[in-house]
Amino acid sequence: DTLINQIAAGEVVERPASVVKELVENALDAGARRVEIDLEEGGIRLIRVRDDGGGIAPEELPLAVSRHATSKIASLDDLEAVATLGFRGEALPSIASVSRFTLASRRTDAEHGAALQVDGGRVGEIAPKAHPHGTTVEVRDLFYNVPARRKFLRAERTELGHIEEWLRSLALARPDVELRVSHNGRPARRYRGDGMLASTDRLFETLGEEFAKHALRVEHAGAGLRLHGWIAQPVYNRASADQQYLYVNGRSVRDRSVAHAVKQAYADVLFHGRQPAYVLFLELDPRTVDVNVHPAKHEVRFRESRLVHDFVYRTLHAALAETRA
Ligand code: ADP
Ligand code: MG
Repeated sequence: DTLINQIAAGEVVERPASVVKELVENALDAGARRVEIDLEEGGIRLIRVRDDGGGIAPEELPLAVSRHATSKIASLDDLEAVATLGFRGEALPSIASVSRFTLASRRTDAEHGAALQVDGGRVGEIAPKAHPHGTTVEVRDLFYNVPARRKFLRAERTELGHIEEWLRSLALARPDVELRVSHNGRPARRYRGDGMLASTDRLFETLGEEFAKHALRVEHAGAGLRLHGWIAQPVYNRASADQQYLYVNGRSVRDRSVAHAVKQAYADVLFHGRQPAYVLFLELDPRTVDVNVHPAKHEVRFRESRLVHDFVYRTLHAALAETRA
């Protein structure tokens, strides 16, 4: 089974940032309001994610690190979600098969906590452990037992950069959650968790004062679609392809046709050839979006791609044109 998990890890775990993503998403699924992330050496030496979510009962700890054991499938709808999101119940066993792994937790209603260690896939015994309400997952020495994978990890800085970039995109979508990051024992970043959904506060925290100051608010709904967020006004000069954030139903994605619609609207009203900076949230009926089966790709396919493209184009064209009037 360890071997199967290691093979699955080849899909799920590309680098420290993918581990952080899986662990933080689990924390959010568990209802965490605050997530602390401690890193050492770009996450290669250590990734520790602590949350204040609902926690895991001691006897369920082994289940959490078993293949395809998920507590998140309760109905047929969820089963359909699994078909689209794929890879349910694979993250923890995969990660635990390629690291020195500890899971410690205490349920909100429990008096005591417990912990479980997994070393390169070998699952230990459940042991009592003092722990505040919530869960801590510790991942040490990523790929220590898979030298061929370890070899592909990049410099500390590069790996840290990938982690920070992913956290930034999460922070934009979840301003209700407090996120704290430390690196090599020093506080590295803190996103306060008191914002409204995609508030300007969080915009300020994530993309900086200049962007926040020059961002034009967008908000439009129609034909079952809704687009909201910000697009930078042209006085904002730092715009580059790395400040283009698109979320479909709350999930960070890349989509060529939407990116094209944004760029086209920007070019038609304002500047040709310039990269617009934006943070845009598109909401639509989930049944009209195919989420790519591979969880790491962040790609989507719209049933009615043309409709989505034109909606985004027209919405932004109108919003930008208004600033010129
Ligand atoms: P999935 O998230 O797809 O269910 P994972 O392998 O990521 O699969 O996690 C397995 C299970 O472990 C989850 O279904 C959940 O029950 C439990 N779990 C993992 N992380 C946490 C956490 N931070 N808080 C509470 N439960 C967790
Ligand atoms: Mg998960």
